Amino acid sequence: MSTPPTLNYDQYQFQTRPLIFKADGHANGFSFEERRDLHVHIRKSFARRGSPPSWAMNTSALKLLLARFLELRANIRFAGNGTPEERILRAQKLLKKARPALIERRREIVALKSAGGSAKLERAIKEIDTQLAVSKDAALIVCGVVHYYVRCGYRASDTAAALKNVISCSKVSHIAGALQNLWERMQSGKDRKPKANPLGDSRARWRREGKCVSCGRAKETEKRHCNACRERGKDYEKKRHQKHRAKRLLRMKKYARRHKAERARRESTKRERRLAAGLCLRCGKRPPSQNSPRCQECKNGARDDARAERLKRSQAGSSAA
Ligand SMILES: [Zn+2]
Ligand SMILES: [Zn+2]
Repeated sequence: MSTPPTLNYDQYQFQTRPLIFKADGHANGFSFEERRDLHVHIRKSFARRGSPPSWAMNTSALKLLLARFLELRANIRFAGNGTPEERILRAQKLLKKARPALIERRREIVALKSAGGSAKLERAIKEIDTQLAVSKDAALIVCGVVHYYVRCGYRASDTAAALKNVISCSKVSHIAGALQNLWERMQSGKDRKPKANPLGDSRARWRREGKCVSCGRAKETEKRHCNACRERGKDYEKKRHQKHRAKRLLRMKKYARRHKAERARRESTKRERRLAAGLCLRCGKRPPSQNSPRCQECKNGARDDARAERLKRSQAGSSAA
């Protein structure tokens, strides 16, 4: 009977050793064959997060995403029209421009807190600190997060450390999540498109320089457009008017018919109600006089009205003549 094989433990297995893999043996660490048997520690966060998303591996996609991300941070509502690089620079400029106001606000909050503020103020200060840290080198920090956290699968805390703790580890995962969300929004077409008119900027310049705001050529009058553009605009308006004219007429006719029918219906019910109640058909207040649907006063009023009307007409006729 053979003795069961004794279990052997490598005493130094968990001792820190340089993890250098060499294809041809282990002069300086482990071979690739040995690697299989090692307790290779896979970061849980990386395993959970899976493989990096497409935008993180594709430079042109990443540029677009970064540009839009920074624009949104800088409160630029619509995607810019330039190249991603131009858009990034523009957003960075705006972010840096907002710094003095942030610094001033931080000073105010610190003063409030030293005067005996709550824990809420502490959080507000931290939030401003993060904003200040990010706005200083926003593109750099976002790229750092993409590289370490998203591409290499570092944990959030390791990423923050790699970025010299300029941002907290919760901010790292926050930025990564925001990038993913923004990417999905951009893919779904729900993100705000570039402004429809790429001439928008030139138009402002033309207006300042006193040129036609449509074509940028010198104009003949004080009007906003040159004569040619105004003629073109008038033609366009005319065509549009004609196009919708028939539709509008039809709509108006329909409305008039309905309106007339409604008024007739209301009048007849009013009439019936007054007849049933035995009141003057005209004013609906007093009982009617004999052999007439109207009361005496309404009859007098009608007579006076007719007289006044006649008088007015004769006066107008004499003044015209
Ligand atoms: Zn013009
Ligand atoms: Zn009456």
